[in-house]
Amino acid sequence: MNEIDESIALKEQLDYYRARASEYDQWWLRQGRYDRGPHLNSLWFADSATVQTVLDEFNPSGRILELACGTGIWTEKLLPYASSMTCVDGSLEMLAINKNRVRSSRVDWVQANLFDWEPCGQFDQIFFGFWLSHVPPTKFESFWKSVSDSLSPGGRVFFVDSRHEHTSTASDHLLPKPEATTLRRRLNNGSEYQIYKVFYEPSDLVNRLRTLGWTFEVSQTAHYFIYGRGHRAT
Ligand code: SAM
Repeated sequence: MNEIDESIALKEQLDYYRARASEYDQWWLRQGRYDRGPHLNSLWFADSATVQTVLDEFNPSGRILELACGTGIWTEKLLPYASSMTCVDGSLEMLAINKNRVRSSRVDWVQANLFDWEPCGQFDQIFFGFWLSHVPPTKFESFWKSVSDSLSPGGRVFFVDSRHEHTSTASDHLLPKPEATTLRRRLNNGSEYQIYKVFYEPSDLVNRLRTLGWTFEVSQTAHYFIYGRGHRAT
């Protein structure tokens, strides 16, 4: 894909999330098209509890930067640990829901396109949930450079994202092969969008990040999630 096509694709991806904002949490809560029945839902909630436990053990602190913060599912989990938070997202619709959920004077909400965003200072911790998979392969390095530029000396990064598991998404979504980097998504009103979705194997990701100067531990939950904790290699 050339640069112009890629920027059109990234606009479509952001348009998708803008339009999805009011129904976004149905995915996390396993409601509507994301409800896969009691057994699979319980596996999902067990895996999300695992990630919450690992995040608690990670024990974030200080100034926290959350990239692609969305509706605030993770903002509200991070805020008790933070002295202050900066939450960046490209969608005003997402940011409005996040603000309303979190309602805190310790949070700065910033609307910005993360693909042409200039880091706004340095942070002790950087968190991104379900964002790395939406970074196109061509922008993997520049994304991690912007993470590095935003991290204070000794700072740490935590991310969580999707495993390639077909029941993680809506029942009317098709999950392509693991090596595909885009897929189609549908909203409740039936409108369709193409977005980037890149799935990572933990060991491959650790190795790629090592070549970029990071030390990362990347793990998977039993079924649905991949998560990583890391810092700049010394
Ligand atoms: N982190 C949240 C979570 O885990 O619930 C939301 C993740 S959601 C999969 C992806 C988020 O990325 C959406 O909130 C969307 O608005 C945002 N986003 C999409 N394209 C963006 C862009 N180019 N710049 C900034 N944010 C973008």
